[in-house]
Amino acid sequence: MNSRRNSVTVGLPPNEYAKLRDSVFTTIWNELDPLEHQIEDTEKIPYDVVMPALKACGAFGLIVPREYGGAGLSIAQYLPILAEFAKIQGGIRTIVHVHNSFAHALSEIGNDEQKQEILPGAAVGEKSLAFALTEPGNGTGMDLSTTARRDGDDYIINGRKWLITNSDFASHFLVLAKTADKEVSAIIVPRDTPGFTITRLPETMGCKGAEHGELVFTDARVPAGGLVGAEGDGIAHLERALEISRVFIAASSLGTATRALDLSLRYAKERVTFGKPIAERQAIQRYLAEMAADVYALRGMLADVAVKWDRERRIPAESSLIKQFGLEAVGRVTDRALLIHGGIGYTRMYPIERLYRDARLNWLEEGPPTIQYMVAARELLGGYVFDDAFDSLPQG
Ligand SMILES: Cc1cc2nc3c(=O)[nH]c(=O)nc-3n(C[C@H](O)[C@H](O)[C@H](O)COP(=O)(O)OP(=O)(O)OC[C@H]3O[C@@H](n4cnc5c(N)ncnc54)[C@H](O)[C@@H]3O)c2cc1C
Repeated sequence: MNSRRNSVTVGLPPNEYAKLRDSVFTTIWNELDPLEHQIEDTEKIPYDVVMPALKACGAFGLIVPREYGGAGLSIAQYLPILAEFAKIQGGIRTIVHVHNSFAHALSEIGNDEQKQEILPGAAVGEKSLAFALTEPGNGTGMDLSTTARRDGDDYIINGRKWLITNSDFASHFLVLAKTADKEVSAIIVPRDTPGFTITRLPETMGCKGAEHGELVFTDARVPAGGLVGAEGDGIAHLERALEISRVFIAASSLGTATRALDLSLRYAKERVTFGKPIAERQAIQRYLAEMAADVYALRGMLADVAVKWDRERRIPAESSLIKQFGLEAVGRVTDRALLIHGGIGYTRMYPIERLYRDARLNWLEEGPPTIQYMVAARELLGGYVFDDAFDSLPQG
């Protein structure tokens, strides 16, 4: 049995959940979706509009445990909401995803003091924990050059991180650094730490407006109380946080793919060539059926992992497999959506070209494909079996 400890996902009662979900969906479609062109044109998210809207609908506290003021959704309840965000402008989805993902991670790996310091503020969007692993001069994981040297009651941090999402507003950063030669540790660094500076990187291909800055630590002194767990626990924390966060990327892939399919179904009925809607052409029908198969398969995989996670099972192989399948599926679906829309799909008249660009981020968030193959293969070669593959379905 692949079991987990410290689960926090008890979920809301169905009527309360439906109310919350409706409120977030209304905000998504009435207040946030109309901002798409403004954000794409300016490459900036209007925080003065977006942040109050996200706060008011409760988007920042979705998977923060209720004891810290969040909604405490189960993963099965959270995934459809995240998927809905992935249907609209991708920069907004990125903000919501990273905020919730690392608030959730902290609720699982942080100590009481750390949770008290950050989670009540995170639940209402006043505080946010960003995640800082990637470095300009090194590879992902153990290959880090950022160091954290113990000095009395503090750590002194030196090094650089980049591509760190929400770096423009996060109040805290969960920084992976080496505390000894082969020892990676996770340390919470407050934004206002002396010796810690943040600069912008160039704009991105898609998911525009969200910021992914560069962090520079020069003898940055942080209280040792920011250490998460013990020294050397960093990789274990990382694996645990990414295990569910990769599922969140797959849910984002599902949302983007579902929107691309819906738009394509509508367009195929409207667009007439040679006297007939293109929907009547077998070649287009084949595209649509293949897109629907990807959406359907991904939805089924997400339902399986959500139930397993909510039942406190570990999903080390599933999480990499679903993340990889999800990005390939959304890649195929957005590609075909573009083909169905023909030349006009390449313009901004329809959201298809944006969905196509936004989806590309899913290749990179929470590790590129080579990492997903490696993690899944390591689990499988190590004897991991899908012993409970059908247990997650209601039986009888
Ligand atoms: C918009 C955006 C937001 C991001 N947000 C965050 C964030 O909030 N926090 C954070 O820490 N990171 C973040 N990242 C970084 C992201 O996680 C990394 O870009 C991704 O994991 C790839 O790492 P890399 O860029 O260092 O690529 P590299 O490690 O340089 O990889 C380049 C290529 O080589 C391959 N490769 C590298 N090493 C190996 C190996 N050992 N074996 C086989 N193949 C290998 C990779 O698969 C890839 O194809 C973000 C990235 C983007 C684009």
